[in-house]
Amino acid sequence: MAKRIRIIEGTWDCTSCDTKGILARHKKCPQCGNPRELTGKESEFEFGGTDAKTGKSLREGVTDEKALELAHAGVDWFCAYCGASNRGDQEICKNCRAERSTDAKALEEEADPRRPPENRPPPAPKKRGTFAKVMLALGGIFSLCCFGTIAYGFWSSIPHDTTGQVVSTEWKRTVFQERFVPVTLEGWADELHPQSPRMPVNGSGEVAGVQNIRGCASRQRSTRKVADGTERVCSTKTRKKACGTEEKCHTRNKGNGFKEEVCEDVTKYCDESYEDCRNETRYRNEPVYAQKCSYDTYQWKEVTHREASGKNAEPPRWPDLSVSAEDRLRREEQYVVNLEYDGGKKKTELKPKTEQEYVVWKPGQQVALTVTNGGDVKKIDPR
Ligand SMILES: [Zn+2]
Ligand SMILES: [Zn+2]
Repeated sequence: MAKRIRIIEGTWDCTSCDTKGILARHKKCPQCGNPRELTGKESEFEFGGTDAKTGKSLREGVTDEKALELAHAGVDWFCAYCGASNRGDQEICKNCRAERSTDAKALEEEADPRRPPENRPPPAPKKRGTFAKVMLALGGIFSLCCFGTIAYGFWSSIPHDTTGQVVSTEWKRTVFQERFVPVTLEGWADELHPQSPRMPVNGSGEVAGVQNIRGCASRQRSTRKVADGTERVCSTKTRKKACGTEEKCHTRNKGNGFKEEVCEDVTKYCDESYEDCRNETRYRNEPVYAQKCSYDTYQWKEVTHREASGKNAEPPRWPDLSVSAEDRLRREEQYVVNLEYDGGKKKTELKPKTEQEYVVWKPGQQVALTVTNGGDVKKIDPR
């Protein structure tokens, strides 16, 4: 495709009289007559902005014949005697008539190799180590999405020690009297195996048994998925497609206050949406049937129960309940220790499993707690 070439002229600022925006074609300040020099940033040209999309310079291209000739005269050199800038194709300093024996710019570059020359790209930044890259990436992720959440989570998990005291203690004990009695249940035929029952002696050694399996009927037990033809499933996707051309420009610094801009039309790619379809197996749920039957067996059933409860200094005891040889007793016990801490502002409770663990706690007793900033009680010890 056809290339469109333009010459863009830069501007410089005179450091002798402070005139700004002098066109590059002037090698002397039109205001004070001082020659443009390498020092004092006089030769760092300003080229104005570029279009963000195409990279095209916002300045008009140079059409003036003399200015174009200057642009093509090669890289400027700086007189080693007077410092003035000179056309690249001249051998004698226009300012002091000295010969171009040595270029002040070349001398300066030799003395300070870190300084990037005007017509050479700046050196690539030093490569970071892999570790540094990973840390940078992690830092990016943290700061983007979840730094606050993680910071809060971390803060709230930090534990600290505090003191509190036992406010009260409570216990509750229940004794259940249970009897092994005949019941009728239902079960799946393939899981029922006839067996004779055996009655308990002093509350143990019993066998529930399975007897008199009867009344079997077909019932739904579960479902299973079965293939049921295919269906067409489509989703909308996007792909890149050529859609005309767009202008792209790049520039090359000519080292004399001018730059050459080359613009060309390149193929432009746009997002195109399309339907992506394929056949997928369809499934339906099918009921699975099996034989369900009634049968006779035995189960422990509660006949009665007694409760006892108390608090603080009252020692835990079991309620009185005596049983005959065919019955059994089942016992349940619950213990609660109520505590307060942070000067009574916060409350928590302990649930000891056994009497032994319960009786060590006495109302008024001081305790040491470990609590997180988020309010989770991690540890409670008697003091
Ligand atoms: Zn000036
Ligand atoms: Zn000179």
